[in-house]
Amino acid sequence: MKAVRLFGKEDLRVVEVEKPKPAAGEILVRGGAALICGTDVRMYKNGASVVPVTLGHELAGTIEALGPGVTHYREGMRVAVAPNMGCGVCDECVSGHTELCAELRALGINLDGGFADYFIVPAAAVSQGNVVELGEQISFQEAAIAEPLSCVYNSFERCHTQPGDSVLVIGAGPIGLMHAKLHKLAGAGRVMIHDINESRLAICKRDDESFITVGPDQPKERVYELTGGRGADVVITAASAPATQQFAFQVAALNARVIFFGGLPKGKEQVSLDTNVIHYKMITVTGTSRQSLRQYRQCLKLIDQGVLDVRGIITRTMPLEQAQEAIETVVRGEGLKTGFVMA
Ligand SMILES: [Zn+2]
Ligand SMILES: [Zn+2]
Repeated sequence: MKAVRLFGKEDLRVVEVEKPKPAAGEILVRGGAALICGTDVRMYKNGASVVPVTLGHELAGTIEALGPGVTHYREGMRVAVAPNMGCGVCDECVSGHTELCAELRALGINLDGGFADYFIVPAAAVSQGNVVELGEQISFQEAAIAEPLSCVYNSFERCHTQPGDSVLVIGAGPIGLMHAKLHKLAGAGRVMIHDINESRLAICKRDDESFITVGPDQPKERVYELTGGRGADVVITAASAPATQQFAFQVAALNARVIFFGGLPKGKEQVSLDTNVIHYKMITVTGTSRQSLRQYRQCLKLIDQGVLDVRGIITRTMPLEQAQEAIETVVRGEGLKTGFVMA
């Protein structure tokens, strides 16, 4: 079978590997679709903690075989698989926050993931409920979006968005678009998306006419103009640049919630901020990373029940053989989400 493996910095290869057999408690999944994310690009550019490793943590497919002792699942079941698993016994895991476990392991990060014809779901993930059955109407591509969408949902829950709130998302990539869509769903009065990349703004606008795009020209003035001089009630940074965090405070309204969704590159995490803005404007600042299994399942429901249409987010799919081109498409920032569809 084929697998897209990272051997080191900028060393990605499509290789033939042996089809794995599920051991006790494990599930073997035949790949359906797997999407590329910014994390994959970071690993490609900087290398990974474990190499070689098969990338791919946004996944869905069909159960091919069950290891001894696996219950609740059956062969042929269409499933989505949450990639993160905790130790299962620490306080964080027990409270439902496996994503905060100190011993976190993840498919496609430090365990072989889903850019492959088949992949193994480890026993810990199976017993924690990472494998979720799909409804008939949801495609593998849509199901694979549940992973990044639930990272966004984690952030969304901390925004405490009320109907009528004005929301500014900084960054018009696939993640930014997902933030915008969730806030629209929550009844935000104005959903503004800011980016310097006009072609990405255009894709967001095509996805939903009601989104207000704010381009590179005098964005601060534009946000104040759009909000009657108040600024935005919710500001989300969905871009990995220190300037976006500074900009967020410049356009935040009184009592605003500012969420740092995108982390910053190593060496750039020291950012100079006017903290008096937080003080005098009574701003709540928070951040989120990854997602809980509850949030992952919630997002699968949103997609499956047609509450959130995610089809416009995937702009290109390719076979595994074209992995190099696929990752370069993402590096170039072309379209929104690129993914693999397995035969
Ligand atoms: Zn991801
Ligand atoms: Zn744990």
